[in-house]
Amino acid sequence: MDVHNVEMVMSAVSPSQYPEDGRPEFALVGRSNVGKSSLTNTLINRKNFARTSGQPGKTQTLNFYSVEDALYFVDVPGYGYAKVSKKKREAFGQMIETYISTRKQLRGVISLVDARHKPSQEDIMMYQWLAYYNIPVLLVATKADKIARGKLNQSESIIKKAVDFDPSNSDFCFFSSVTKSGKEKVWEWIESKM
Ligand code: GDP
Repeated sequence: MDVHNVEMVMSAVSPSQYPEDGRPEFALVGRSNVGKSSLTNTLINRKNFARTSGQPGKTQTLNFYSVEDALYFVDVPGYGYAKVSKKKREAFGQMIETYISTRKQLRGVISLVDARHKPSQEDIMMYQWLAYYNIPVLLVATKADKIARGKLNQSESIIKKAVDFDPSNSDFCFFSSVTKSGKEKVWEWIESKM
């Protein structure tokens, strides 16, 4: 999709605030710093639309971005910040759980992991949990430009093995916001689920 038009329509804390026009939604999840804002900006051809990192764990809301009046990207705040209190983390977990397990418009989740590292416990839990709810997942290994070409296969195997990758509901691709490699693949996946 060639994107020209993006609008942040809502920062929602509860389901009553989610958009009601029924357009397909794609959620983006991943650890803070994994490259989620960079991926989002690459997908929508912007430099600085989605905020890059900045305030760790501060925004505990689901942010809905309307893309070309055709779909929504739903930015789920990065997990993995120890600084956020346990109470806040639980409330936040519940918000995501409610959204992901009940939202009819949700067509898939783009789950980001760092291509250079073995997925964290939280990455694994997130993936397993999406699989449990039978949600289509695109597992994206970010920062692929930091990996030598000859090591990509190895990185892919390590990631897939760690999460117990299930090809029946998941796809995998590498991505780099530096070289933009993977951008077309991500869009193809999104469009295949619309
Ligand atoms: P977020 O917290 O998940 O939104 O992560 P950001 O998109 O803000 O990225 C975190 C850091 O990783 C920033 O310093 C980015 O410049 C860097 N980064 C993100 N994507 C890539 C990538 O594909 N390649 C490289 N080399 N660095 C990246």
